[in-house]
Amino acid sequence: TNADVAMYRAKEKGKNNFQIYTHALNAKALERLALENSLRRALEYKEFVVHYQPKVDTESEQVIGMEALVRWQHPKWGLVPPQKFIPLAEETGLIVPIGEWVLHTACTHTKALHNMGLKPLTVAVNLSAVQFELQNLTKMVSKVLAETGLDPQYLELEITESVAMQNVEHTLNMIRDLKAMGIKFAIDDFGTGYSSLSQLSNFSVHKLKIDRSFVSKINGEKDNSIIPSTVLALGKSLDLSIVAEGVESQEQVDFLKENNCDEMQGFFFGKPMPIENFKQLYSTDLNI
Ligand code: C2E
Ligand code: CA
Ligand code: CA
Ligand code: CA
Repeated sequence: TNADVAMYRAKEKGKNNFQIYTHALNAKALERLALENSLRRALEYKEFVVHYQPKVDTESEQVIGMEALVRWQHPKWGLVPPQKFIPLAEETGLIVPIGEWVLHTACTHTKALHNMGLKPLTVAVNLSAVQFELQNLTKMVSKVLAETGLDPQYLELEITESVAMQNVEHTLNMIRDLKAMGIKFAIDDFGTGYSSLSQLSNFSVHKLKIDRSFVSKINGEKDNSIIPSTVLALGKSLDLSIVAEGVESQEQVDFLKENNCDEMQGFFFGKPMPIENFKQLYSTDLNI
């Protein structure tokens, strides 16, 4: 890039480090600006896509739900993963329209699956901290449900444990309002934050999702499964449904079955995929 050439020249001329540093900063700022612009365009040109990862019932191993995960189908860069653009989307506020689009798309796809006459499954949609802080979140969600015709009992919203803990009062109100609409609520990445037992029981959520970092350590050695065991016991005593995310091996499946985990999600059962592929998987899964 031009910035690189400028940096190289500055170095060659033996200029001081400060100038090189400034060039590097400018390059970064420019890159960011370019990314922000293409992110804005992406909404307008409908470049986002939603992929779906199956969730199975632990006992029967049948697909009972899916998680909606956004990707950016960029004309030049290809499929961009969420971690590459969600942080900037949050900083710029673009996550609000993107998040609404994801919710709308996920509800539309789920409603279409229901219309196929198969056993209805639930869809889980991730909420960003920025969306969760909005006062009109419940309004937006009920608008989307009305527009798409999806029965609210099949919608599950996921917020991470750290977002839930940011403002406990607000979290309590939000969960109350959304639950009143018939929507389910899950605490994502559970185990990575610092919620206390009393706060957790106050939240009265439906589900906890054990973070992948803990699930991936399950390997048959007792020491490595202390956190999953503890969360599973906690779920039992608080009457919460527990989902294990990032399940990749038979050993992990065996452990989760033995310890009465309710649902499993991970590459072992399926990677996130376009709705057409999911539809195919789901209809054949039920025909077995
Ligand atoms: P998350 O909510 O914890 O989602 C699970 C992530 O783990 C997904 O990555 C999924 O592809 C990946 N994963 C699932 N099973 C396995 C496994 O067995 N092994 C491995 N190695 N990975 C597995 P993805 O799709 O790249 O999403 C990353 C994060 O981006 C999500 O983490 C979520 O925090 C965020 N995200 C995705 N879609 C949305 C969205 O629509 N809105 C918001 N606000 N955030 C989103
Ligand atoms: Ca999630
Ligand atoms: Ca996670
Ligand atoms: Ca069970």
